[in-house]
Amino acid sequence: MLNFDLMEEFGHEQLVFCSNKESGLKAVIAIHDTTLGPAIGGTRMWKYTSVEEAVEDVLRLARGMTYKSSIAGLNFGGGNAVIIGDSSKQKSELLFRTFGKFIDGLGGRYITAEDVGTTVKDMEYVRMETKYVTGISKALGGSGDPAPVTAYGVYVGMKACAKAKWGNDSLENKKIVIQGAGQVAQHLCEHLYNDNAELIISDISEEKINKVLNSVKADVVDPKDIYNNEADIFSPCALGAILNDNTIPKMKCEIIAGSANNQLQNEDKHGKMLLDKDILYAPDYVINAGGLMNVSNELEGYRQDRALKHADSIYDILTRVIKISQEENIPTHKASNKIAEERLLQIGGIRKIYSSKNK
Ligand code: NAD
Repeated sequence: MLNFDLMEEFGHEQLVFCSNKESGLKAVIAIHDTTLGPAIGGTRMWKYTSVEEAVEDVLRLARGMTYKSSIAGLNFGGGNAVIIGDSSKQKSELLFRTFGKFIDGLGGRYITAEDVGTTVKDMEYVRMETKYVTGISKALGGSGDPAPVTAYGVYVGMKACAKAKWGNDSLENKKIVIQGAGQVAQHLCEHLYNDNAELIISDISEEKINKVLNSVKADVVDPKDIYNNEADIFSPCALGAILNDNTIPKMKCEIIAGSANNQLQNEDKHGKMLLDKDILYAPDYVINAGGLMNVSNELEGYRQDRALKHADSIYDILTRVIKISQEENIPTHKASNKIAEERLLQIGGIRKIYSSKNK
């Protein structure tokens, strides 16, 4: 499909190709929608096998950010960038500073951050060339690791699901299976353990498991057997696309609530399968919005207490999503898309009122 056709299909505003021979930079920046404010979203560095694959990915990611910002109540639009290349071999100061120049050239229409394949250090090089970057280290006045705020958002989101499912948001004695024992899971397990939940964890890395076991008491299961466990809550905190034709029929839980991105392999089909099984699914981009809240907070001068307070709002947002899903008998991800689209429409309408901000 031609780029313009792809952009028109999903309403993207702008697609920018960045190329520089000296640094080897080949990057694509996509801006989906700036109704609510400048587009924000990470920079992914990946070994795409074709430009088409990179363009498709960046358009999809940028659109996802519009929905995430909107439902999180942020005044940001949706954007994303991809750098085509091997993040283990092709990174350099020159590459990221060159990329920073291109971002700066967009004059603030797009603000970047780290994503898969890029790190805080890379963003610090970008920062040398543009102020339109977030997710830099605390030492340099940035927000540092977003995982604690993401995890807190997932924790309050789980409580909102518990309240909707069981009439009480206490997680005490609830059996919670957590897939992945990485950065987010580590902090999440601590919140859940403090609430006396019964934890079952799983990771392909023994080192990660042991790190979590240093701070909480939990049972450990083999990653291959994880879907066979009966539990109150299943929490995907590792991989995307894990809710699919193979896994959903095996699921023996009442709630799915975790931080992983793009959990539904096919949004419509698998969202509906979960609804039919009466499993309450917390849409990933709603429950993991703490990470975005954290980096966006950096733009106002970072304070973790303010970011955590903001992440508290995930409880009410999810409660509203679940209510609409129940009232209209639609999958929760459809309910959250609806709320995000409504906000875009409503706030977009303010533009017609003249104020000193209209130029
Ligand atoms: P991480 O890399 O620290 O942790 C992921 C863990 O999953 C790793 O320990 C890895 O070994 C494990 N893993 C990989 N394959 C597995 C498998 N088959 N079974 C069990 N474990 C497996 O990442 P993270 O920062 O903790 O993020 C977790 C998820 O949440 C990711 O999908 C990420 O995209 C998403 N997310 C993270 C943030 C954030 O603030 N870090 C924000 C939003 C979304």
